[in-house]
Amino acid sequence: MTQPDKWLFTPGPLTTSATVKQAQLRDIGSRDREFVDVVSDIRRRLLVLAGQADDTRYTAVLMQGSGTFGVESVISSTLAPGEKLLVLVNGAYGRRIRQMAQVLQIPVRVLEYPEDQQIHAGDVDRALAEDAEIAMVAVVHCETTTGILNPIAELAEVVQRHQRKLFIDAMSSFGAVPVDVAQLGITYLVSSANKCIEGVPGFSFAIADRAALQQSAGCARSLSLDLHAQWQGLEANGHFRFTPPVHALLAFQQALLELEAEGGVVGRAARYAENHRVLNAGMAAIGFRNYLVPDVQGNIITTFHYPDHPNFDFDQFYDRLAVRGFVIYPGKVTQAACFRLGNIGRMYPEQMRALVAAIEDTLHEMNVTLLAHNK
Ligand SMILES: *Cc1c(COP(=O)(O)O)cnc(C)c1O
Repeated sequence: MTQPDKWLFTPGPLTTSATVKQAQLRDIGSRDREFVDVVSDIRRRLLVLAGQADDTRYTAVLMQGSGTFGVESVISSTLAPGEKLLVLVNGAYGRRIRQMAQVLQIPVRVLEYPEDQQIHAGDVDRALAEDAEIAMVAVVHCETTTGILNPIAELAEVVQRHQRKLFIDAMSSFGAVPVDVAQLGITYLVSSANKCIEGVPGFSFAIADRAALQQSAGCARSLSLDLHAQWQGLEANGHFRFTPPVHALLAFQQALLELEAEGGVVGRAARYAENHRVLNAGMAAIGFRNYLVPDVQGNIITTFHYPDHPNFDFDQFYDRLAVRGFVIYPGKVTQAACFRLGNIGRMYPEQMRALVAAIEDTLHEMNVTLLAHNK
């Protein structure tokens, strides 16, 4: 090792534990019994994280590629020709789902909200009441664009009442925000290896309602992203249809064990809540302002306004923090000059305090004063 790795205050890939990294240091055949067992163990543990004791109602399907590939696999292969998708948008990841529907020529309707506002269940209720062609509703749980949490329980109640399918992009929340897919009547939920489960990038996964998935046979608009075919392959002999990311899967199995040792979703949620609290309090004490109001803010990633000071320059701020060993994240909101700090990954309040101290030093170095302005 030359230099220690920097701490990643990003929404993923994240800082992972040494043991997760080490789990990858081997060669294993993708058709070997041992590997097949790893895959089946991962699929079973994912169902538990989704609130399912067994696979009677849901199944977990692993898909090669980053999170977007998992989302696109559901969007592209579970709607029959002519079926319409309603996309609920309050950030870049919701917009990405709309874009997928457009590229795939899937009929799409969109309800769009400002990026600092949650989606309103009442609007979804009206849209579903007036449009019988809508077969599925798609929504992002934690919109990583800002860190806002959407009210998925309320939305799920509406979608269930109208008997439509529900797709949740839970990329940046799954594993750290409790969710029971059966209770909410979720049809498909997608997340990936390198977010709150703290694995390394390489694949995504869908928690799918078995009956719906069964019905989607033959609906795929792509060979490699065919979710039903991928499921059939895994069920038949435990094999992926195409080369699996074996090392990422080995790391992920270790990450799942570490999640369990931390107390599962509840334990991890508690650490992230404390990370977020410490980081946010520290940033407020320096004088930073939050983009979101506290009651819609999740504990995953937080958006801060740029300091209102002529000497502040984000690129310089970023570089100076990187030299100190901290990687932060640029903003993605369209209407305001902001940056983001993620607090997920193998990090603790100690690292949150260290980042706040480094930010304070950096501002001092840049001759940016904040307190006077915000008092
Ligand atoms: C990270 C993320 C994605 C997927 O991103 P990839 O770069 O493809 O892994 C999708 N939706 C949300 C909400 C995310 O946070």
